[in-house]
Amino acid sequence: MVAVLHRMVHSLAGSGGSFGYAQLGAQAREVEIKLKTLISTENIPETNAWAVIVRNISDFQSAISTPSPEKKDDYFQASSMLSESQKSIYLLEDDRDAAEDLRLKLDRFGYEVSVFSTAEVLTKSLHKQKPLALIVDIMLSDNMLEGAKAVREIRTLYGEAFPILFISLRNDFEVRLEAVRAGGDAYFVKPVEIPPFVDHLDKLTQSCLSEPYRILIVDDDQDLAAHYALFLNQAGMNVTAINDPRELLKAIVNCRPELILMDIYMPICSGIELAKMIRQQEAYIGIPIVFLSSEGDEEKQFTAMRMGGDGFLVKPVGSRRLTESVSMYAMRSRVLNNMMMQDGLTRLLKHTKIKEQLVIEVLRAERSGTEIAYAMIDIDEFKLVNDTYGHLMGDYVIKGLARLLKHRLRNSDVVGRYGGEEFAVILPDCNLDVAIKIIDQIRISFEKLDFMHDGKVFSVTFSAGVAAFSDYPDAQQLAQSADDALYQAKTSGRNCIVKATPENRVGAG
Ligand code: GH3
Ligand code: MG
Ligand code: MG
Repeated sequence: MVAVLHRMVHSLAGSGGSFGYAQLGAQAREVEIKLKTLISTENIPETNAWAVIVRNISDFQSAISTPSPEKKDDYFQASSMLSESQKSIYLLEDDRDAAEDLRLKLDRFGYEVSVFSTAEVLTKSLHKQKPLALIVDIMLSDNMLEGAKAVREIRTLYGEAFPILFISLRNDFEVRLEAVRAGGDAYFVKPVEIPPFVDHLDKLTQSCLSEPYRILIVDDDQDLAAHYALFLNQAGMNVTAINDPRELLKAIVNCRPELILMDIYMPICSGIELAKMIRQQEAYIGIPIVFLSSEGDEEKQFTAMRMGGDGFLVKPVGSRRLTESVSMYAMRSRVLNNMMMQDGLTRLLKHTKIKEQLVIEVLRAERSGTEIAYAMIDIDEFKLVNDTYGHLMGDYVIKGLARLLKHRLRNSDVVGRYGGEEFAVILPDCNLDVAIKIIDQIRISFEKLDFMHDGKVFSVTFSAGVAAFSDYPDAQQLAQSADDALYQAKTSGRNCIVKATPENRVGAG
């Protein structure tokens, strides 16, 4: 057991630094040394030694949110690594032409498709690597429902590890029922209409890629907080624990929790007072607060709930009960938040939310002394796209750019739909030149995307303005400056990026 933990920490110590998380690497190295001593001494270690290690391990979480600022070029490595594993789709289809046709069409939407003509070959590949999603022709080698049989076996082996979409020439009840029973998540009749198919694929694959829930624990008992943090970490959640209530507001800004697990009895102030403090700030009204206390008196529990709590867990809480309740509250909070914050067409942040987010990111950058880049992007001659190919096609172009932005940027970058065909991107911890390089790469990829209408292929371009926070006194002027630079990109011929400087502001000098 200790040996397994040692191995994991060891590889973390090695990889932390290489992925640009120097602090995490160093912390892991320290824990590794402690574990090594524990393994080498024959004696049973003291509980205290363990508590220290558990605390050290839960500290890794905060190190993850602080990548080393000096290694900017990791940006490219990290984001391209991410997109490669994110895009891979397996297709089980014995009709070679149909397979190639579907592969090419999905490729344009940024999905990388590997084609398999038999279930045997597919199964071998699944052993090596799991795809983001699997598409299966339900009729293989003209044998009705051969595909369904293969899927049933795959589900037995891999459970719900990835979504499965059936495609089929038939559209009758019998086959559809068979598809459902085999464990298919979707069913599309051939010839597959690509835009709705891609939409569905996006929806199904998004849930697999969903980020871990961000949880903040506030408990003055360090060991207990570390103990709960470990449970939640093991359940795949991203946990920050603080022991001093005075650090609460800073922690909320830094870790953007989707749920706060709050102890009630603490020195300095009570959890109930902290909950009131949180509820008095509009931006934090949506964060669920679950109280964690040894308070068994129901009346007092209800009082706590009335004061802004969403749930109550009585200590001691077992790991199962803790992780199940926390993930349930966090999931509901995320769904609600997404509905409030996201634009329906692109699932990017809405206009007001991206502006709020910029203010939050600017505060964070000021505190940590890091840079932020901000980009405004606007599709060129978009009115013409609508007029020539129709509004629906225009919508697909908007979605195409949204998807490209999401795939190419890091998870920590914030992408919003600013208006009709206008987008805004916040790149925390990124300097102006790197940001321009990134947006320009996306510009080139977007230009190469083929859109198709009535058999005719066309392409679309965008212009952008990029500004860096260190050149401006506040978020508002940063945004204005990026907008001015975008305007210059438009007037200087479109399909280009303009670097904003305080001098080239519209109306400056
Ligand atoms: P420029 O290169 O100067 O940006 O020219 P443009 O035609 O892209 O800019 P303009 O602002 O004149 O036109 C934007 C058009 O985008 C007008 C509007 O009808 C269209 N639009 C806005 N929102 C949507 C949407 O959600 N879907 C579609 N299909 N079109 C939209
Ligand atoms: Mg435009
Ligand atoms: Mg516009």
